[in-house]
Amino acid sequence: MSETVQTTCPYCGVGCGVQADVDDDGGVSVRGDPDHPANRGRLCSKGTALADTLGLDDRLLYPEIRGKRVDWHTALDRVATGFTDIIREYGPDSVAFYVSGQLLTEDYYLANKLMKGYIGSANIDTNSRLCMSSAVAGHKRAFGEDAVPGCYEDLERADLVVLVGSNTAWCHPVVYQRIIAAKSDNPHMKLVVIDPRRTATCDEADLHLPIQPGRDVDLFNGLLAFLDNAGCIDRDFVNTHTGGYEDAVTAARDGDTDIADIARACGVPEQELAAFYRLFVDNDRTVILFSQGVNQSSAGTDKVNAIINCHLLTGRIGKPGAGPFSITGQPNAMGGREVGGLSSTLAAHMGFEQADTVQRFWDAPAIADTPGLKAVDMFEAIGRGDIKAVWVMATNPVVSLPDADAARDALRECPLVVVSDCMAATDTVECADIRLPALGWAEKDGTVTNSERRISRQRAFLPPPGEARPDWWIINQVARYMGFADAFEYECARDIFTEHARLSGFENDGQRAFDIGGLADLSRAEYDALKPVAWPVPHRETGQEAQKNTAAKRLFHDGVFSTPDGRARFVAVTPRPPAHAPDADYPLILNTGRLRDHWHTMTRTAKSARLSGHIVEPFAQIHPQDAQVHALEDGALARLETRWGRMQARVRLDDGQRRGSVFAPIHWTRQYAAAGRIGALVNPVVDPVSGEPEFKHTPLRIKPFAARWYGFMLARESLDIAAEAGLDYWVRIPGARFWRFELAGAEAPGDWALWARRLLGAAGPDADWLEYRDGRAGHYRAAALRGDAMHACLFIAGEPPALPARAWLAGLFAKDKLTEADRMALLAGQPADPAADTGAQICSCFGVGRNTIVDAIEKQGLKTPQAVGEALGAGTNCGSCVPEIKALLNTSR
Ligand code: SF4
Repeated sequence: MSETVQTTCPYCGVGCGVQADVDDDGGVSVRGDPDHPANRGRLCSKGTALADTLGLDDRLLYPEIRGKRVDWHTALDRVATGFTDIIREYGPDSVAFYVSGQLLTEDYYLANKLMKGYIGSANIDTNSRLCMSSAVAGHKRAFGEDAVPGCYEDLERADLVVLVGSNTAWCHPVVYQRIIAAKSDNPHMKLVVIDPRRTATCDEADLHLPIQPGRDVDLFNGLLAFLDNAGCIDRDFVNTHTGGYEDAVTAARDGDTDIADIARACGVPEQELAAFYRLFVDNDRTVILFSQGVNQSSAGTDKVNAIINCHLLTGRIGKPGAGPFSITGQPNAMGGREVGGLSSTLAAHMGFEQADTVQRFWDAPAIADTPGLKAVDMFEAIGRGDIKAVWVMATNPVVSLPDADAARDALRECPLVVVSDCMAATDTVECADIRLPALGWAEKDGTVTNSERRISRQRAFLPPPGEARPDWWIINQVARYMGFADAFEYECARDIFTEHARLSGFENDGQRAFDIGGLADLSRAEYDALKPVAWPVPHRETGQEAQKNTAAKRLFHDGVFSTPDGRARFVAVTPRPPAHAPDADYPLILNTGRLRDHWHTMTRTAKSARLSGHIVEPFAQIHPQDAQVHALEDGALARLETRWGRMQARVRLDDGQRRGSVFAPIHWTRQYAAAGRIGALVNPVVDPVSGEPEFKHTPLRIKPFAARWYGFMLARESLDIAAEAGLDYWVRIPGARFWRFELAGAEAPGDWALWARRLLGAAGPDADWLEYRDGRAGHYRAAALRGDAMHACLFIAGEPPALPARAWLAGLFAKDKLTEADRMALLAGQPADPAADTGAQICSCFGVGRNTIVDAIEKQGLKTPQAVGEALGAGTNCGSCVPEIKALLNTSR
């Protein structure tokens, strides 16, 4: 008998429903929930692999003070006393909380209430500041409230979908699959991608505009002027429901209005820009979806408003298939926005001008009445010593903040650092004085809100491990230990949710679109059974109907916005260049972003061998001509430097990369790479309105890493190689029953055999060693067998191409007994039968390698991704690898 629990994926803001099946032995399998309106049964590669990430290795299971296990009473008392003493001596603004879009709404609500209503400071900010606060600020300027007007269904009902600054195929895969399915059903539908890089998202696009980084306002101001000239204006809507039209259009006309000039400024072909403008004119049903490529900029808020202006001018908002659509990165970034997790908002979409309302509702002894420090400012204040105690919840700022080395140093110097997390070893947990064990995804209970304002339950299906506790419980206890027991009497997540819902409706009278007052008196049973529901839900009746009807909802369909006069606002914006331009010392532009199969700082996804197998190392993607200028070779190592920090990465040549810019992923940490933290390189410049950092534009220089030797090691156990002398470059990543290490050094050890035996010492004295050495060629190869099974192998060469492929060797770890042929071929690094080498992993869902796909294409004459799917299964689950399969088909042709 297995139990099935309906819950929600903990990764991106699509918010897919997941069914978790738990069998009698505690084994778990997951599948997409066919009844969840966000995904209708689909999951991407990350969601599909969720069951791989549930092991308790690396979990923080007990409270610790300075590395020593303590009981909860001791830990809570120390946190409360530490914060109380510092507040008493230095005031409420001397402490801070740094929270996360990984928290559930109930956790978030309590953290915000404790800081803003009881400590009396607004120094609580969330890591969502780093990914979507420009959208928040843009929404507030245009609509009077931070509200996404549309829903996913609009993307399917549109005739024109424009994806700006979004690699949707990799970062929001299920939404991308919905768009592609709609496109195949509607031959008139056009897809335009505006992005400096040619990404997997461009694969199905009718038009890709590879815009010069930072030029979005030029492009959308140009569109606004073009629409105005063409008379493509919804005059009734503009006159009746908006303000600021004249100023916005005048500002747009002050810049380039000739298409040739705009195209030149944006670095895109004139014909193609004109084609995009004409498409916009011709299609009433238009959705512009935007993401981090727009938000993560020192002009991010202006970019958001430049996009919204075009929708207001044409009245394309609040209608089926039309509207601007901000898609969020994290699973509960939206929930955090709703409770006031940002230091610049108060609670329930109220601002500080409504501090009195919130204080009366909370019956709070104090209330923050001015905004607190935003993320980057907060860590700078910690570095200066202005903030003396910080509590970091469920996030990893030592990796993810810009100028991340400075953030790490600030935490190291801070008198009191508390970290609550489910993981025992992260770059941030290592800086903590007090570590509080929190529950992980499978154990948590509460709600999250996705990018289309849909509130879904996250339900526990595994018991709490060790002494880990829910985040809301930890915050509740600290508040009680600080003397606020009367206001923190919650017994379960439902108690918090219903209070949050009541606050949303408190003295609202329709002024705030965020109103879920209809859910305020849910019983425990109703809360447990809550179906996904999009807000607003202002009345109980509506709440009950919403439980029967999970349909999508649009805001502003009546043309009434959340501003004092009910009108939306055009915002006059002027192009502003990125804060730091490339120069002779740093001639390139660093652009950062996500990969298909990893999530944030890899604390979860690195537990999955199939996810880790897609891209195993941090890389620097560069145009081949730029690579030539900088003496870089594909597959070699490079050193990346900015004025803020440095890192090492594998070079990837890609002619889809815009010349002059380099892309590098955000995921690697000190836990998985010697020097792979991209945050250390990012300039800490922020948008003046939103405080969002400029992650997409830091001047960079890049040069070859002068390695004397390259190598890799596969080992049954993970080895602690961080302190190994002579290892200038290392990356570690799990495989199926083995660990993989990529290695390089500037100096070769004097005796490879001695070095190898020390490194692989875990093999033990009874290991059977095989070795091969060619001193002149610089080759060294060794393998350690235990019994008849593979225990470890090490391959060293003078240059990367001389190393064998890893896939076949990795496959030997799955065998309990090597054959004689395996042993004979072992040190050659390749099987006698080439078909046994499946190649680098392409399809993570079914573990299908590159060589297998190429072989099938050639031998079976496969012509389409569908044919590859029928032959091998690859690409038939989540579809995330289809663009790579297409690329292999094209290469074969
Ligand atoms: Fe999770 Fe993928 Fe759905 Fe995002 S698209 S919520 S990562 S399954």
